[in-house]
This record gives sequence, structure tokens and C-alpha cells, in this order.
Amino acid sequence: MASEGDRCRWRLAPDALETGPFVHVAACSALPQIISLPHAIATCRNWPGPGSERCAVRRHGGAAEPEAFVPVQDFTLDAYASILRAGLDAGYEFYPVFDWYDLDAPKGAGIMLRHDVDRRPGNALKMARLERDLGVRSSYYFRSLPCSFVPDIIKQIRDLGHEIGYHYEDWHLARYDPRKALALFEDHLARLRTLAPVRSIAMHGSPLSRENNMAIWDHHTFTDFGVIDAILSFDYTGYVFFTDSGRTFAPSGANLRDYLGNAGTVAGVGSSNDLGAWLRQHPGVRVQINVHPERWNDPGAAWLRQWATDQAANTVKRGLRLVRGTNRAAKPEAT
Ligand SMILES: [Zn+2]
Repeated sequence: MASEGDRCRWRLAPDALETGPFVHVAACSALPQIISLPHAIATCRNWPGPGSERCAVRRHGGAAEPEAFVPVQDFTLDAYASILRAGLDAGYEFYPVFDWYDLDAPKGAGIMLRHDVDRRPGNALKMARLERDLGVRSSYYFRSLPCSFVPDIIKQIRDLGHEIGYHYEDWHLARYDPRKALALFEDHLARLRTLAPVRSIAMHGSPLSRENNMAIWDHHTFTDFGVIDAILSFDYTGYVFFTDSGRTFAPSGANLRDYLGNAGTVAGVGSSNDLGAWLRQHPGVRVQINVHPERWNDPGAAWLRQWATDQAANTVKRGLRLVRGTNRAAKPEAT
């Protein structure tokens, strides 16, 4: 598979016809590939197989120039590092969620960096090491389920200096029974606290659940447990929120529940390159970035598997949105 740094270039087929969202290119070497067009990100598709010299590329928006295209894979650790570097270059400091809450100084610009570790905690450990190497600290929220809760990894991330938080979904696990949900929450929080101090929590989206996991707080009070909530404990007016839910940082129909109070979102900032560029151009903002480590893989089998998983999940989530009639009020858009 081609990756960043390869000499492979994408060329428009000699008889290229741009039809709707597709443009035909020659010299495809592998699939799927995310390629960077001058004004858009595109996904190569309809590739007949190895040896083929022709495929169609689906554009995700914007206008493309009919010229050479260099393939760039997004959602790799290198791409993630480029976002952090862009933030650092722009003078931003990164904060774990509780540190930001606990700041004595009036809050100016800064980036709250948060990770919901839904699956593949090994990816979280790689990300945590990369951040440490760049001098960045962040928050890692772990679920109570074995796909996320791996004590050895949690302890290693703690030892790298990052915040450990609880990614709760007890309302869903208890099937919306307030008493049972509280018992589960207490139990899971206590178990996580045997591994690290836990001062903040963040809800898991549970897309298949009919109710939001934050509904548990209609019946109980999280401050009773000595924690703040990454969403509920802040007034996010004036903040800008980026999440990679839906495999894009732009607002997406495939994002069902990953929102942040009154924080604004930015249409058009979809890729890591876009987000890096936005940070460089907007140095003085209060920002929260939520990155799911499972989504970020080095080029290869894991990257392909996650790419396919995300495509399927996005289709399901868009379907759920239609079925549930999820229709959020328009969010303020930041620039
Ligand atoms: Zn989650």
C-alpha cells in the first residue's frame, strides 16, 4: 500500500471524465486509499484489483484540480502527530480535562485534549507515548468492558503522566434502572481507582442505546463521587470542539452523541491536515479535541480494518439518525 513518503503519484486518466462526485484516475496501487486533492479529501473506490491501472475516486467535497495527486493516508499516528505539532507551533498548551478545570488562572487559549478509549487500548498506549515524546499531556477515558479496561495498559498510560478517567455507560448497561446503574457506576469507578486517581468522567456514546448515558445524572449526582464530568462540568460557550467521530473532524451525520454543550464546530475541517492548518490560523482559541485512539493506526492491516469498520459504522449511525429522527438544533459555527 502506498503511504506518505512513497513516490507513488496519482494521475488523472487520459480520458478522465469528472462525473458527479467521482473522478477517474490512473495508476492506483492499492485500496482503500485516502488521497489528498488540492481542496478535498477523497477515497479511492471501485478498484478492480492488483495490477489495475484505473479506478474511480470519490470526493468528499470541494473542488479538485485536474492535476497530479499525491496519496496521503489520514488517521495514522504520523497524521495525529502533525496535529499536535501544529498546535504547539501555534503556541497552544495542551491540558488534560481535570487540569483545565483546576486551573487557578483565568482561562485563556488552550487545548483540552481528550481520548475516549472505546476499543484497542494498545492504540491508546502508542498515542500516549507519542504525546509524552512531544511534551503533551491529555486525558484517557477507559470503559469498564474488557475491550477497553486493560489494567496493565492503564497503569502504563498513568505512568506517562496522563490523566486517567472513567468512560461511563452504566445507564445503558443497567437498562435504564437508576438503582442498578448507580451500583454499576460505583463498582466500575472503584475498580479503576485501584489503578489510578480518577478525577473526571466522560460518557460513552453507546450509539445502539436508545438513551444517552448522561441520563444517569437525572437520578444521581456525580460530584458525590469526587469527580467532574468532561461535558457537564463546563460552560463551553466560546469554545470550539473537534471530534474524530465519523472519521472526520467536521460535523457529520455519522456523529450521534459526541457533542460538547454550547461549543461551536467548524464545517470544512475534516482531515488532520485541515485541523492542523486551522490551529495554525487560529492561535488564541479555547478548544477541546476528542480523539478515539482505535481510529488511528499505522498504514497496514489495522488501518484497513478500522477504515472498513468506520465506513460500516457510519452507515449504521446515519440509519439510526433517520429512524430516531435525531435532529439537533443548529450549532453555532466557529470560523
Ligand atoms: Zn465512547
